[in-house]
Amino acid sequence: MQAIMNTYGRLPVTFVKGEGSWLTDTEGRRYLDALSGIAVCGLGHAHPAVTEAITRQAGQLIHTSNIYNIERQQALASALTRISGMDNVFFSNSGAEANEAAIKIARKYGHDKGIAEPQILVMTKAFHGRTMATLTATGNAKVQEGFGPLLNGFIRVPYMDIIAIHSVLKANPDVVAIMLEPIQGEGGLATASAEYLQAVRTLCDDNDLLMMLDEVQTGNGRTGSYFCYQQFGFTPDVVTTAKGLGNGVPIGACLAHGKAADVLKPGNHGSTYGGNPLACAAGVAVVETIENEDLCGNARTMGEYLRNGFRERLADSERLQEIRGHGLMMGLVINQDCPSLMADALEKGLLLNVTSGNVVRLLPPLNLSQSEADQIIATVSELIESL
Ligand SMILES: *Cc1c(COP(=O)(O)O)cnc(C)c1O
Repeated sequence: MQAIMNTYGRLPVTFVKGEGSWLTDTEGRRYLDALSGIAVCGLGHAHPAVTEAITRQAGQLIHTSNIYNIERQQALASALTRISGMDNVFFSNSGAEANEAAIKIARKYGHDKGIAEPQILVMTKAFHGRTMATLTATGNAKVQEGFGPLLNGFIRVPYMDIIAIHSVLKANPDVVAIMLEPIQGEGGLATASAEYLQAVRTLCDDNDLLMMLDEVQTGNGRTGSYFCYQQFGFTPDVVTTAKGLGNGVPIGACLAHGKAADVLKPGNHGSTYGGNPLACAAGVAVVETIENEDLCGNARTMGEYLRNGFRERLADSERLQEIRGHGLMMGLVINQDCPSLMADALEKGLLLNVTSGNVVRLLPPLNLSQSEADQIIATVSELIESL
């Protein structure tokens, strides 16, 4: 019997070292990492700024408690609010927990308005995490199966359908928030248009609802701006992030703005580890590096470079139907399911994955070089052509 609980289907490879966009396995073989631990290592592996920050912090102070002031936590909150235009931050250890905080803010916001059973609108094909509330908010029956009863208080609408939201709001005066991803990372890289997101913002304003964006995957420079919403000229009431924030050190954040920022009061929510000195030292190093090295700019440039490269290289192939996403969050939609593509890419020394059966997902480090992008274009195109 395996000592590790059998919750993952794993590829037969073990990595022992990483440097930049490259990983080395136990046999000494090198792989180009176009997945970054699923949008986590945005700075690449073993980035010196993060290594130095957590080494220094570990030698100084790893943990105290949220019953005291934490200097690194305040520094990270200041940096995130300055960059995002949000007002304040609650720190967690993961994306799911950041979303739990958002869901609790929405429910409390409703209760404060006198709504006894507040409802949150969520989207088809959404992914918000694996805890019971975020599992309920997730729009994937396969992920939910076997874990009922799920929570009350969620109403699902089709993604990218503003008319559907209108009609649900008409029939349900108890809706308090709309929760969605700007790009559905697990849901086939479906990408919301600027017009749709702006229309959701307007609907939330008109109906006194919280607009809550899940930027767990799209945040931290991934789409070419620090948060994806910053490309669309509005501010959400709540935005969550995690993945890229610690470059591998577990940390999540729930940011709030305006009327959402003072909903939670002392005693309403908490976390033992959330925002501890070690995790926040990593977060500060990540945010500073994204700014100092203009990694948002590089994500835009390399994102365009990859898109153009694939369009050129696969111009004559019917296999590539569409390229989704923004910046270095990219989905290549293939005209057939490609269940073995991930393992075939591994054979060729490239790490990527496939979501929704037929969408090849690329999430390379934000500091990807042009020659690394060329290798990704060549290898992925070969794999797609040989399907
Ligand atoms: C990964 C992800 C989550 C869950 O984050 P965990 O850290 O695994 O809990 C939630 N929402 C989105 C959009 C994600 O991509």
